[in-house]
Amino acid sequence: MKTLAELFEHTLKDVYYAENALTKALPKVAGAVRNAKLKAAVEAHLEETKEQIETLKKVFKTIEVKPEGVKCDATDGLIKEAEGLMEEAEGVALDAGLIGACQAVEHYEISRYGSLREWAKVLGNEKAHVLLTEILDQEKAANAKLTTLAITTINSK
Ligand code: FE
Ligand code: FE
Ligand code: FE
Ligand code: ZN
Repeated sequence: MKTLAELFEHTLKDVYYAENALTKALPKVAGAVRNAKLKAAVEAHLEETKEQIETLKKVFKTIEVKPEGVKCDATDGLIKEAEGLMEEAEGVALDAGLIGACQAVEHYEISRYGSLREWAKVLGNEKAHVLLTEILDQEKAANAKLTTLAITTINSK
């Protein structure tokens, strides 16, 4: 790939893969955490993630490309780390660890959507810019919610 348009398409497929992988991973995380508020937060973000997949389909439409994923090694790695924690950690360490693991995913997503929405703007694709900003704001809010939960409840336990 040489052009920004090609890079945009490739990275869009990367996040599409990531969101689809997360719809399979988040139910496992929700099932493993012990704190009820944390479980509810993970379940809420799972629903949001399903909506994000629909929003991404609209972004694919703006560039007339069929929605499909390309393997995102970063997300696969982050999910693997979370799965490792679920095997190794217990009790309060499990909850604190899984909040951190979820936030690692949110930070990855924030960086990707931040790049994508700015590339969309430069490419003159205002519709994609707006749709990707919508998702970026959801990822930032999800991350902030997890930070609040960690600081106010989970870590002190
Ligand atoms: Fe997401
Ligand atoms: Fe990736
Ligand atoms: Fe690591
Ligand atoms: Zn997310």
